[in-house]
Amino acid sequence: MPQKPPIDYRMDDIVRLRKPHPCGGSDWRVVRLGADIGLRCLICNHRVLLDRSTLDRRLKTFVERGPYDPRDPFNASGKPADT
Ligand SMILES: [Zn+2]
Repeated sequence: MPQKPPIDYRMDDIVRLRKPHPCGGSDWRVVRLGADIGLRCLICNHRVLLDRSTLDRRLKTFVERGPYDPRDPFNASGKPADT
């Protein structure tokens, strides 16, 4: 844990995983944040729950980021900064 800062996942992030889903898709939308991260396959809508360490290992890249600036600490809760 000390070596790397935690990856900051956002609702509606599109993530690409190293291993494609059996349906052929490799891109997933973040649909749930918490101790476990919920992902939904963009191709077949299959939902999975992965704990953060597992997702960190499987994550290849972010295809698209969610609507909140991941560097903004005030959005750390995942709520919109409705200013
Ligand atoms: Zn799929």
